[in-house]
Amino acid sequence: MPVSKARTVVVTGSTSGIGLGIARGFAAEGANIVINGFGKAEEIEVIRRKLEDEGAAAALYHAADMTKPDEIADLIATAREKFGGVDVLVNNAGIQHVARIEDFPPEKWDQLIAILLSSAFHTMRHAIPLMKENGKGRIINVASAHGLVASPFKSAYVAAKHGILGLTKTAALELAQSGITVNAICPGFVLTPLVEKQIPDQAREKGISEAQVKDEVMLRLQATKEFVGIEEVAAAALYLASDAARSVTGTHISVDGGWTAQ
Ligand code: NAD
Repeated sequence: MPVSKARTVVVTGSTSGIGLGIARGFAAEGANIVINGFGKAEEIEVIRRKLEDEGAAAALYHAADMTKPDEIADLIATAREKFGGVDVLVNNAGIQHVARIEDFPPEKWDQLIAILLSSAFHTMRHAIPLMKENGKGRIINVASAHGLVASPFKSAYVAAKHGILGLTKTAALELAQSGITVNAICPGFVLTPLVEKQIPDQAREKGISEAQVKDEVMLRLQATKEFVGIEEVAAAALYLASDAARSVTGTHISVDGGWTAQ
């Protein structure tokens, strides 16, 4: 089995948005990166190569669908096979669906819970034994301000994000004496494709314009009145993965422009 000295970082849902930003942050530190997520093969190959150009020791793409436990198992097994293990696991993949509970399609509920919550259980149950073998590891769950507070029409998302904070705390306690920390990041609104897609849905649900959703619904919640930058969330992930954060476990870092201070 080839073993590289560089740290190996697996980031789920990293073909876009926050996950890609986190992958780029670790690439710049010279890590082996395993990216994952959907997209066109040729565009993903451009992303993969760019990560190597930006400093990754190596970048590998794995197409695991985060609703499929067998594919998730293969993602972690592949990281071990290619790079010898997993040093940092970032559970980030996500989607959103916006509807009233009574109109919320049950299959959408199941899909959101699978991607946003159950996938992290599956990546963790396969990665933890590898981290224990190494005597160290970092697990970082990208939650949300919606892990701490709710908004209407986002029942599955809010439930999953509250759930992942519970999973984070439980895992942190289980692993506290194994050299493995488990934390979450709770971003506010970051202008990524996930957020851009929900603007028309929110406008329809609330009967307002798309510009009003941005200014009066999303940024109303952020005290700074500004969207959070992808690189700000990536910086929090890099900190949580650093030696300086070895006593930080079972908690979250909010990067939400003051949203949850209200
Ligand atoms: P995005 O749409 O830009 O990226 C989502 C990524 O997840 C993509 O790579 C996509 O291909 C991947 N993905 C979706 N379904 C998948 C599946 N079944 N299997 C594997 N990969 C899948 O979204 P984003 O805004 O960057 O969101 C990333 C994470 O950040 C999510 O967990 C989201 O809930 C969280 N978050 C986002 C915001 C925000 O404002 N954008 C705020 C708080 C938290």
